Amino acid sequence: MTLMTHSVEIRDLDLHFGELQVLHQLNLDIEQGEFLVLLGSSGCGKSTLLNCIAGLLDISDGQIFIQGQNVTWAEPSERGIGMVFQSYALYPQMTVERNLSFGLKNARLPKPEIAKRVARAAEVLQIEPLLKRKPAALSGGQRQRVAIGRTLVRDVDVFLFDEPLSNLDAKLRADLRVELKRLHQQLANTMIYVTHDQVEAMTLADRIAIMKGGRIMQLSSPDEIYNRPQNLYVAGFIGSPA
Ligand code: ADP
Ligand code: MG
Repeated sequence: MTLMTHSVEIRDLDLHFGELQVLHQLNLDIEQGEFLVLLGSSGCGKSTLLNCIAGLLDISDGQIFIQGQNVTWAEPSERGIGMVFQSYALYPQMTVERNLSFGLKNARLPKPEIAKRVARAAEVLQIEPLLKRKPAALSGGQRQRVAIGRTLVRDVDVFLFDEPLSNLDAKLRADLRVELKRLHQQLANTMIYVTHDQVEAMTLADRIAIMKGGRIMQLSSPDEIYNRPQNLYVAGFIGSPA
């Protein structure tokens, strides 16, 4: 019997790029259904950590568990995760509907199941009126919603987001922040969200992990991070312009 307490567990994770050690003995437990934000300055290792969880990088040492399974050496497709990147490549020649269903067709899911999942994702993301359009006829924010939709239809346990809003203008970013929060309230998924934007982190997170130089400097609720920084680095980082 396995006692499944955490959604994601990271144990003593080291990662090197050649001579450069980017993650240092990193430990992190993420709760079921938690919205966990990895926050830190450019180059601190946020994307690297997310890519390790996704299985896109070979780690140097340590272990990664997802939903109680040791996935340290599992392929990305075997991890029950879905990733949304900062720059999203939709298929330009396909309608939004086809962009959403494409991966499911390749996975040979039955047609009614595909239709059900596309309809649900479209409803949750409020892109139903856009289903027959092609990406060129969408705004940046609408495209990013479709990109999130492609992950949503896959019915994954854990969503990974790497700065998904950073290419959008301030107004769209604010709108999509609200939508992401609503999305998380509707779904039961665990979400791990990378950003260097403090406002994004504060509004979205159940807990924030502040990273510096491949280490976690504090892991707490937004309120605790803000009001009770545990060290000088966090105190200086919070409230300073990113
Ligand atoms: P962040 O996402 O927090 O901005 P990254 O995880 O992208 O940071 O990068 C962390 C460090 O690793 C940086 O010093 C970066 O230059 C380095 N790095 C990232 N990817 C590679 C790579 N593929 N090869 C070599 N060094 C890399
Ligand atoms: Mg990054």
